[in-house]
Amino acid sequence: MNFPQKHSAAGTTIFTVMSALAAEHNAINLSQGFPDFPVDDRLGTLLHVATNVGFNQYAPMPGLPILRNEIAENFRRRYGLEIDPETEITITPGATYAIYAAFTAILHPGDEAIILEPAYDSYLPNIEMNGARAITVPLSAPDFSVDWDRVKAAITGKTKAIIVNTPHNPTGAVWGKSDWGQLADLIRGKDIFVLSDEVYEQLSYDGLKHYSVLGHPELREKAFALFSFGKVYHNTGWKIGYCIAPPALTGVFRRIHQFLAFSVNTPAQYALAQYLKLEDVPPVNIMLQEKRDRFLELMKQTPFTFHKPASGSYFQVAGYEQISDMPDKEFARWLTKEYGVATIPVSAFYTSGKDDRLIRFCFAKKEETIAQAVERMSSLMVSP
Ligand code: PMP
Ligand code: GLN
Repeated sequence: MNFPQKHSAAGTTIFTVMSALAAEHNAINLSQGFPDFPVDDRLGTLLHVATNVGFNQYAPMPGLPILRNEIAENFRRRYGLEIDPETEITITPGATYAIYAAFTAILHPGDEAIILEPAYDSYLPNIEMNGARAITVPLSAPDFSVDWDRVKAAITGKTKAIIVNTPHNPTGAVWGKSDWGQLADLIRGKDIFVLSDEVYEQLSYDGLKHYSVLGHPELREKAFALFSFGKVYHNTGWKIGYCIAPPALTGVFRRIHQFLAFSVNTPAQYALAQYLKLEDVPPVNIMLQEKRDRFLELMKQTPFTFHKPASGSYFQVAGYEQISDMPDKEFARWLTKEYGVATIPVSAFYTSGKDDRLIRFCFAKKEETIAQAVERMSSLMVSP
């Protein structure tokens, strides 16, 4: 059979590859981004309650009203933003799905969509699956800031969308307010939509603020802002996210969503809605900043190098030039097999496979997991 290719991404996603390799070699898995500590007991209990009280049938297509109301209330409280839960919020089965649905809602075959690389690996195939072309613009190493002149040069008459991500996976970079201003200047008066991947919105460190596209009135009019509960409540396996967009864009988004998933896991939506009401849920960035700091402190025992601590997300990029000059994919495999620690090679986040000889560690792990991983790597030697 001759199956359609649909996209140009090679083979199986790196997250599956590295998690499988970690399992095969009994390695500590600091590769795929998920916490290994439990969810808040209260959230687990609420899920149980939800099924007991009867939230077991299809939810309304845009999501349970109580969850959408609580999200709106939460954004009012945390960001001072007014969002209409009826016309601007749609609950989705995770953010990966929401990104796909948003691209599908706006892209025509032949359109172009801009990606800033390194980038989460689903963006490119999601664009291509819609018959559009992904135009990649590299972020500027070593701090992975946006080179706005390069973005400007990538915009053509065919550009229909740009996808951005702050806090950033895999580099941990966080956008300042001025980045949004620069983007607004570049796309003013043009029919270009913004997909703003903000799944790590609550994970910024050292007092840095998260600036959402929703806080920029001009951009908000042309933006799909995409979120995931998995990253903030440590339940990535629930796969619940949401899309916030102005009414007209929410309309086109739901036009796709209604025939793609139709609706999302009802008991989990109920549990999240009740959990959002609680006022004593500790801010997640405090706990994760401590984990980042502990990780970096312990890693001083190893020859890895760090340009700077991650400002956001739960990933830390590291150089291994003192250990080896292997390509990063080979190095990540070797580290998994020989030292029992799995990571992600950063070249997997580039369409071109650009290899800066960097790997990504996920530090959203229990204290003992981090300590054990570092202990395994502490015998790594500086190569002569
Ligand atoms: N965007 C980025 C930048 C991510 O790292 C991830 C990975 N979780 C997602 C989106 C997807 O989130 P979800 O698990 O809700 O699909
Ligand atoms: N976003 C997560 C990461 O970067 C993984 C999500 C996935 O496995 N697709 O590790």
